Amino acid sequence: MNPTRKNVAPDLLLRAAAEAQLAKAPQTDGRAATELLHDLQVHQIELEMQNEELRRTQHALEESRDRYVDLYEFAPLGYLTLSLDGLIQELNLRALTLLGMQRKKLQRRFFTQLVVPKDQSRWAEFLLRLKKIDGTGSLELSLQRGDGTVFQALLEGEKRPVGNGAAQIRLALSDISERKVAEEAQRIASTAFESQQGMFITDANKVILRVNKAFTEITGYTAEEALGQTPSLLKSGRQDSAFYTTMWVRISVTGNWQGEIWNRHKNGTVYPEHLSISAVKNDAGLLTHYVGTFSDLSSYKAAEEQINDLAYTDLLTGLANRRKLIIRLQQAITAGEDQQHSCALMMLDLDNFKNLNDSLGHEQGDAVLQGFAKRLSAAARDGDTVARLGADEFAVLLDPLSPDPQQALRQVESLASKMLAALEPPYQLAGSTISCSASIGITFFGEQHEEPLEPLKRAELAMYQAKSAGRNTLRFFEPQMQAAVDARVLLEEALHEAIQKQQFTLYYQAQVSDSEGIVGVEALVRWFDPKRGMISPAEFIPLAEETGLILPIGAWVLEAACQQLALWASQPAMAQLSIAVNVSARQFRESNFVEQVLATLQRTLANPQRLKLELTESVLVANAEEVIVKMNALKAVGIGFAIDDFGTGYSSLSYLKRLPLERLKIDQGFVRNILTDADDAAISRAVIAMATSMGLGVIAEGVETEAQREFLASLGCHTYQGYLFNRPLPPEKFEALAQRLGRGAAAP
Ligand code: C2E
Ligand code: MG
Ligand code: MG
Repeated sequence: MNPTRKNVAPDLLLRAAAEAQLAKAPQTDGRAATELLHDLQVHQIELEMQNEELRRTQHALEESRDRYVDLYEFAPLGYLTLSLDGLIQELNLRALTLLGMQRKKLQRRFFTQLVVPKDQSRWAEFLLRLKKIDGTGSLELSLQRGDGTVFQALLEGEKRPVGNGAAQIRLALSDISERKVAEEAQRIASTAFESQQGMFITDANKVILRVNKAFTEITGYTAEEALGQTPSLLKSGRQDSAFYTTMWVRISVTGNWQGEIWNRHKNGTVYPEHLSISAVKNDAGLLTHYVGTFSDLSSYKAAEEQINDLAYTDLLTGLANRRKLIIRLQQAITAGEDQQHSCALMMLDLDNFKNLNDSLGHEQGDAVLQGFAKRLSAAARDGDTVARLGADEFAVLLDPLSPDPQQALRQVESLASKMLAALEPPYQLAGSTISCSASIGITFFGEQHEEPLEPLKRAELAMYQAKSAGRNTLRFFEPQMQAAVDARVLLEEALHEAIQKQQFTLYYQAQVSDSEGIVGVEALVRWFDPKRGMISPAEFIPLAEETGLILPIGAWVLEAACQQLALWASQPAMAQLSIAVNVSARQFRESNFVEQVLATLQRTLANPQRLKLELTESVLVANAEEVIVKMNALKAVGIGFAIDDFGTGYSSLSYLKRLPLERLKIDQGFVRNILTDADDAAISRAVIAMATSMGLGVIAEGVETEAQREFLASLGCHTYQGYLFNRPLPPEKFEALAQRLGRGAAAP
């Protein structure tokens, strides 16, 4: 259609009419013709103006149509027009590109031919729905391109009327393959993130951004609790800071770390986990996140332990087996070497077990072994390893022991004796009572390197010695230890006898004041053994304390000292002297100690004012309130208290202030070198200053020379005890000395 031609036609007709009029009557009506021509010219100008306007409109229309075509053809979406039965009628360039086919190939084809077979029924349904509901709708499906490749497409369809009751389907088509791939990846990532493993994602500063459900299950912390925290929230404290430093250094260098680590659950329990941490970097290589993945190894560890337990357990008794003992020995040897301390190994063998087993049958034999194992475990300390090595052979690894060799020996001996005692009573088995003692061999190890089998061999040898020594006894492999133990055993036996036979006496040593001469004495116990002669209290008092024999000995000493006080009361030269009695911690702790002292005073009629008790600082460390109550009760009747060996313990000043004390006794250990050792002098000076500030008296013991006495006096201590004045003497000799000097007289 050409609009120009259609508008020119009336114009030409008008001009022809005017010219015809002019030709008809040129002379009759000249004026009218001229007017007509004028009108015609005006009309022609108007017509030209209209034409111009029309051309401009035409041009605008063409431009707009071109723009529309451009928009349509080059739109970012593909557009297709389909007939209601799905025949492609028209499509834009983008649709052609997406489908990878030429226009002529596509036009007049059914759209369903582009749909992959599995999606064709969905397409058919979609088309049907669009037709029926006269609405819009969308569908995701796979389409096949001209080259056979498939892409994920999104169709947005609409039914549009086109007049005369007819209608078309318009489709917008877009390729969503990439989005689908991304969605898929996201879905996979989400599924993976919600796996059985605990996961957390942090930012570059290790602040937790996201955790999964397994994280909460394993750690006990909900997402709300964990977000914003750092993974150190889970620290158990079992790894030191060096461990974490190494871990993060490794992550920063290699990008990841994995290993086993102990973490703490929110409820406080510590559990093992396998942890893997990876650093995430962006395209520019900058660290943006860390991803941590971990799994709880508790159940795995428990299973592992169970397996280990079975491999390292003696099935009959439930004790450790030989293999486990050897591992423990190895560990103890290594630790002993590092820390310079010794451990002990005991080997125990049931006496005459073979006969018993043969005569009673294996079932009874097993019952005896189980009973033995139970008693042995009960007698051992927590932490000691009790093992059954096979048949009727058992072992106990004692670790740790005191770092002091003598104390360690005593510890081991007393444990072994306790075990022998526990194993001695007969076993009550079905229908019979069976006695079965054991022999124990003991050796020390750990101070130097050796193979674990070495101590085992030594303990075994010692065990055979115990057997040949008559069974139901113990033997040390090390001869000097055995000798020490033998001597101790003999001493203990002799001490028992000494108590029965009253082999003790008291010796007295003067306590001398600068101004008053002899003011009192210290009673020091002496033991005369008919076979050994005089035995020093330094030797037998510790043993007596350990065995409890100090109680009868202490009671005897107190009684004897009070009798002496009562006797001296009638002798003018001696009547003013007080007697200081040493009281051991164990004695003082006896619940009836106060009653015992009061009863002794009553029995002997001694003057309580003249009785002084010397306590060591070890008495004070136990139950403070009880100590104070006891001391006050005795002080109430006039008894005075001194702290013996002062300066060797750790009594606090505030505590000492609460005690009803009369004086402090500077330990002879400080006096000995007071002239040559600046530390000893300083300590003595401090003790004297302390006593003075607390309003207490002070006495120095072990004063042997005049120079020591003078020095002490210069520090402010004016009462002394020591060989300078007299060695401890039996009462008659001491009386002679005192009578010669008299109270108020300085000793020679
Ligand atoms: P201790 O109570 O500190 O007694 C002082 C010790 O020093 C006494 O030793 C005494 O003989 C000694 N000694 C005194 N002057 C000198 C001196 O100038 N130089 C030297 N080197 N030593 C001196 P002893 O009699 O051997 O007593 C030792 C420890 O045994 C006593 O130390 C005391 O702790 C304890 N002890 C003695 N008798 C008894 C007692 O009857 N009961 C209790 N529980 N322990 C006692
Ligand atoms: Mg003393
Ligand atoms: Mg002392």
